[in-house]
Formats: sequence, C-alpha cells, structure tokens
Amino acid sequence: MKITYHGHACFELSGSRRVLIDPFISGNPSARVKPEELEPEVLLVTHGHEDHLGDALDIAKRAKPEIGVIHELAVLFQEHGVEATGMNIYGSAELAGVRVTLLPALHSSSYAGRYTGSACGYLVEMDGRKVYHAGDTGLFGDMRLIGELFSPEVMLVPVGDRYTMSPELAVRAVEMVKPELVIPMHYRTFPVLAQSIGAFTEGAEKAGARVVVLEPGESHEL
Ligand code: ZN
Repeated sequence: MKITYHGHACFELSGSRRVLIDPFISGNPSARVKPEELEPEVLLVTHGHEDHLGDALDIAKRAKPEIGVIHELAVLFQEHGVEATGMNIYGSAELAGVRVTLLPALHSSSYAGRYTGSACGYLVEMDGRKVYHAGDTGLFGDMRLIGELFSPEVMLVPVGDRYTMSPELAVRAVEMVKPELVIPMHYRTFPVLAQSIGAFTEGAEKAGARVVVLEPGESHEL
C-alpha cells in the first residue's frame, strides 16, 4: 500500500483500490495536486467541516467512488445527487472490497451551519493492511480500545493544536493506540495551527512508533 499525503488531513491510500480521505484541495494552500487529478474508487470524509469535506462533492460526481460516511453526511451527499452509504460509529461496511469501520472522534461537525452527525475517524483495511485515520479529534480514552480491538499498523494523527490535539497530547494518543508507524497531519496548513510538530517525533518514538513526516505531495510505501 502506498500512502500519499495531500496536506492538512487529506490522504490517498493506493493498493488494490484507491481510497481518498478528506479531500480538501481547493483552498488548501499546501495541496500540490488538483482535485480533477484525483480518481478515488472509495471516498471517506471524517466530518462536515469545509477543510475536510472540501472537494468531496465535486470529486464524487465526477469519479463516482463508493462513499462511506456517517448517516447525516450520507444524507447530505444524497441531497446533492450522490450515492453514499450511511454508517455510524463502530459500524463497518465493505466498499469496493475495502473494509471501512467508522470510529469515534472527539470534535464537532457541521457544514454551512447544518449539523452533519458526529465527527469520526476511520479504520481502513485493504490488502491485509490496517490504517487508522483519526480525523479531527481531541484526546479520548477509547483510543486505547481502538488499539486493542484493531491493532492498526499505521495511525494518521492530528497534531496542530487549537482544533485538535497538540503535538504533546498526540504523543499520548500514540501511546494508547500503539501503531507501528505514525504520520502527523493537520498542522502548518494555516497560521493558527502549530507550525511544527514540536516534541511529537521524540515522544512517539519513545512510545515505540516509527514517525514518518510527509510533505504535501509525498508518499510512503508500506
Ligand atoms: Zn474539524
């Protein structure tokens, strides 16, 4: 599996399928790709905030991926004429052969002033690999349970502070989930977010994880 970072919280997982998560490309100053270059077969959106839903509706209409999102977001997609599978927290679905589980995230969620269900994280299982995208989230104790239940190999973790965990709290998240590899996200995109990952690398490595820092446009092969 190849993991490509498109900046902020947007990742593309490429293996037997192309899975795109949180495609905030237009308006994302760090993105190095154009939305029309993305051809996902599976599209996932952690919550309704514009820096996560982003270009999802346009990409969905053009590329016609299978979409698995929390119920209220699925209704939003359907209102825009896009088919989407509604899910809820700790529920799983098979999308184009990719197993997706919706996980809790401690955060709010709305789109254009409208409530769009709980914010979520995702466990994506493809080609025998398990990747946990934590979404936008604060620290919460169920991360230990997520680690025990799913043993994700990779964790994509927000570290930017203000709207999510700080680099220091993200270390605590890594201690609970115990992934083999961790990729920090949701920092530096805007001036209000942390501009560096601070002591995250040292702390996460002490917790036994390998830290891979990707610049937007860069990939890591598992
Ligand atoms: Zn958010």
